[in-house]
Amino acid sequence: MKVVALAGGVGGARLAAGLQAALPPGDLTVVVNTADDFDLWDLRICPDLDTVMYTLAGIANPETGWGIAGETFDTLGMLARYGEDTWFKLGDRDMATHVLRSERLRSGMPLTQVTFTLTDALGIPSRILPMCDDLVSTVLDTSAGTLEFQEYFVRRAQRDEVRGIKLRGIEEARPSDVVLDAFAGAEAVVFCPSNPVVSIGPILAVPGMREAIVASSAPKVAVSPIIGGRALKGPADRMLASLGHEVSSAGVARMYEDVVDGMVIDHADEDEREEISALGMDVLVTDAVMRDGPDRERLAREVVYFTGSVAGR
Ligand code: GDP
Ligand code: CA
Repeated sequence: MKVVALAGGVGGARLAAGLQAALPPGDLTVVVNTADDFDLWDLRICPDLDTVMYTLAGIANPETGWGIAGETFDTLGMLARYGEDTWFKLGDRDMATHVLRSERLRSGMPLTQVTFTLTDALGIPSRILPMCDDLVSTVLDTSAGTLEFQEYFVRRAQRDEVRGIKLRGIEEARPSDVVLDAFAGAEAVVFCPSNPVVSIGPILAVPGMREAIVASSAPKVAVSPIIGGRALKGPADRMLASLGHEVSSAGVARMYEDVVDGMVIDHADEDEREEISALGMDVLVTDAVMRDGPDRERLAREVVYFTGSVAGR
């Protein structure tokens, strides 16, 4: 069954790993947010793409969710000795990804193709597609002024209140043909439990993306990243609140109302079932917390099964 998943970083990668385990090899395509991407020491860093790639390759650091397991940071230590600011943690092995990616991008290879060369070498059975080949950058209007995404997220540890979001370069961006073909051929579309504002938001904001998803005849379901009024990790809950959204599964459902046919929510949010149904969506109430590998696969299987019963609208 051909499944296309939309994902950001850590939360998205968890469900993507479950889907990869649950589906026959080759059936999963993950369309990943690239609006977190930035340059450092002349290297192109794609945090969400790499989180998904390392997770699906089975080499991700299980404690952090990002980076590579057993990673060392000697290169970064030497950069610090040269007086460089090393707030963004780049591991020694991770560095190889950025070096190769940057070289290939500089030679004119599109990011989609570059990503394929990397995932292929890592033996990943799924397709990992950047949302577009154009550089899009998330810029946040915060209580501390205008911040580039990684400045807010890593350097300042998400301490500032987000009052607005801009996606620099989004107007010129277009989904690649492979992304459009993936949605056209999808038998199910799954919105992973990623941050609706800064992970799924940028993917949907690529001109033509929303239309391509809506045009797909596949059932579309979203797994809520908000459980019991909170994000399991990261600033999604505070961001939703400061941007005027309701911090609940129903609030997330409302954000996806025009693109999604079904919502998967946790038992903790069972009392929101009717509110979500009233939006015209089908609802699956289950254990939406992924604690370990078997848990990811279990949730993925339930999500895939649920898409079979969801009525397209
Ligand atoms: P980032 O790019 O690394 O910040 O990651 P994402 O945007 O992909 O994911 C962040 C979201 O994942 C947060 O809002 C979390 O609540 C959510 N999340 C993390 N783990 C789980 C889980 O096990 N279940 C659910 N439902 N959501 C999760
Ligand atoms: Ca991210």
